[in-house]
Amino acid sequence: MPHATLLPEVLQNRAARQPARRAYVFVDEHEAEKAVLTYGDLHARALAVAGELIRRCRPGDRALLLFPPGLDFIVAYFGCLYAQVIAVPVNPPRRNLIQDATRSIIKDCEPSAVLTVGAMVEHIRPVVESIRGPLPWLPVDQVADETNETDQAGTSFRPRPCPPDSVAFLQYTSGSTSDPKGVMVSHRNLAANQEMIRRAFDHDQDSTFVGWAPFFHDQGLIGNILQPLYLGATSILMAPMTFIRWPLRWLSAISRYRAHTSGGPNFAFDVCVARAARGDVPDLDLSCWKVAFNGAEPIRHETLRRFSAIFAPHGFDEKAFYPCYGLAEATLLVTGSRKGRGPRALEADVEALGHRRYVPASGGRGRSLVGSGLVLPEEELRIVDPETGRPCPADEVGEIWVSGDQVAQGYWRRPEATAEVFHAEFDGETGRAYLRTGDLGLLVDGEVYVVGRLKDLVIIRGRNYYPHDIELTVQSAHPALRPGGCAAFSVPGADSEKLVVVQEIRDEQRLTADARDVAASIRAAVTREHDLSVNDLVLALPGRLQKTSSGKIMRAAARNRYLAAGFEIWEPGMSSVA
Ligand code: ATP
Ligand code: MG
Repeated sequence: MPHATLLPEVLQNRAARQPARRAYVFVDEHEAEKAVLTYGDLHARALAVAGELIRRCRPGDRALLLFPPGLDFIVAYFGCLYAQVIAVPVNPPRRNLIQDATRSIIKDCEPSAVLTVGAMVEHIRPVVESIRGPLPWLPVDQVADETNETDQAGTSFRPRPCPPDSVAFLQYTSGSTSDPKGVMVSHRNLAANQEMIRRAFDHDQDSTFVGWAPFFHDQGLIGNILQPLYLGATSILMAPMTFIRWPLRWLSAISRYRAHTSGGPNFAFDVCVARAARGDVPDLDLSCWKVAFNGAEPIRHETLRRFSAIFAPHGFDEKAFYPCYGLAEATLLVTGSRKGRGPRALEADVEALGHRRYVPASGGRGRSLVGSGLVLPEEELRIVDPETGRPCPADEVGEIWVSGDQVAQGYWRRPEATAEVFHAEFDGETGRAYLRTGDLGLLVDGEVYVVGRLKDLVIIRGRNYYPHDIELTVQSAHPALRPGGCAAFSVPGADSEKLVVVQEIRDEQRLTADARDVAASIRAAVTREHDLSVNDLVLALPGRLQKTSSGKIMRAAARNRYLAAGFEIWEPGMSSVA
C-alpha cells in the first residue's frame, strides 16, 4: 500500500485485503478478551454508522463521541470519517457529573448529533441536552452491520473520497493552560503524522501495540488506535481505569501479547515502579518490548533509571525507552528518538538555565534534562526567542516552533488564536508558517530538550523558574506530601512577583502529619534547591488541585482559585470531606 494514504482509504484497503485480521482487541481488568474487531468488521460497522449519520447530519457538521472504554468508539470514529462528519471525541459525563472541560467543548463545537452506546443514552442525555438542547442520538452498538447483500441491492452507503484538506476531526487540547481548544485536524495532517510515526518508531505490520490512554486524547487515538490501523497491525486496548487500579496489568499485557510498542506519560512508568516496589510483580517477559515511548509530560531521568532497574530482571531493555514530544496542534508527534538507541540526557547548570541558557553543569547545581527525541526529516523545527521572533543561538532556551504537513489547520472558530499560534513567521524566513508550541526547549545535536512551558514560567527578579522543577522539590521534601499534588505559580507582589506553592497532603497522613514540620521541610528544600523563598505556602487536602483528564496539573486554574476564593488550608486532623 502506498504510504501517507488518507485513513478512510487505508481502512477500506485493509478490509478488502485482510478482512479477518484482528485490528483491535479489548481486554478487561481480568485480562480476558472482552471484544475483538477485525478489519472487515470495523469497515462494515463503520459503513452502517455512516449510513445512519448521513440521514441526520451534513458533511462538516460535528458529532460528539461520548463512549465508555471499549471498541464501539472506533466504529463511531470511522463512521464519522466515512460520512465526512467531523468527529469530536470527548470525555463522557458520568451520569449527571459532567467535567467542566466536556461542558465547554459541547458549547464550543455545536454538535448536530451524539454517538454513544445504548447503555449510556439514558444517563447522559439529560445533561448533554441541558447544554445543547435536543439532539439526535445514535447508539452505535444498536446499528446493524452493512452486509454484502445490501451492497448488491445498491441501498447501502458507500464513502466518497475525502478532500485531503477537509477537517477529519476536532482534537480538543487537554486544557492544562486554558480552556480546551478544538484543533482542526485534516485528513492530510492525519496521514502525514501517521507516516512520520511509522518511520520514526520503525513500525511494520507485526508491531503489536498495547494501550490504555483514553481515546479522547491524542495519544490514545492517534497513537494507539490509528497507527496500528495504518500499519495493518493489531492493537490490544484496555480501559484507563484498569491501568490506574492495576498498573502492572499494562506490563502483563505487553508480555502476554508480545507487544512491540507501548507507552504513556512519564507518570505511568513511575506508577509501575511504585507498585513493583511493593513486591507484587507478576511473571513478565518484557524482552519483546522494543519501543517504550514516554511523552506528553516532562520526562524524568530518575524515572527511567528506576524503571530499568526494577524491570531489567523481567527482560526490559533500557534501550527500548523511546522519548518523544508532541501536541495536539501538530496532530500528535513532533520529535521522537530512534528505535533501540535509548534516551539521551544532559546535565544543565541551573543558574544558567534560569537565564534561558544551557551550560553543562560543572561544580554548580545541575538539572538533568532528558532529550525528547530528534527533529524528524519531514519537518522544520526552530528554537525561537518568543519576544523577538529571532532564532536562538545553540545554547539558548527558546520557544519550540514547528512547520510540517502534520501541523493542523487551526483552532475551531478562533481565528485570532489561530493566526497567533499557527501562522507565526520567523525572522529571516518568509513564506513558511510556523506553529508556536508554547513550549520552551533547547536543540542540542539534533535532539530537542523540553525545558518548560512559556505560559507557566515563573519569573522572579529577572530569573526564570520552571514550575515543574519547583513542584518536584516540594513534593519530595516530606513523606506526608502527595506526589503529583503540587502547583507552583507566581502572583503579583508589592515590588516583584511572588512565588505561591499549593501542595496536597497524602490522604493517609492528613490526621497525623505535623503541619509545622511539613512546612519547614518544604521551605528549606526550595531554598536549598532553587535559591528561592516560597512567599505563600498552602497545604491543601488531597484532590483539591484540578488536573486535566490526562493527569496534568492545571496551574492557571490553581492560580485563579488562589486569587479568587482561595484554597481551604489543611490543618492536622482535618477530614477529607470538609
Ligand atoms: P492546553 O493546550 O489546553 O493547555 P496541553 O498543552 O496539555 O493543554 P496536549 O496537546 O494534550 O494539551 O499536550 C501537549 C503538551 O504536552 C505539549 O505542549 C507539552 O507542553 C507537553 N509535552 C508533550 N510531550 C512532552 C515531553 N516529552 N516533555 C515535556 N512536555 C511534553
Ligand atoms: Mg497545549
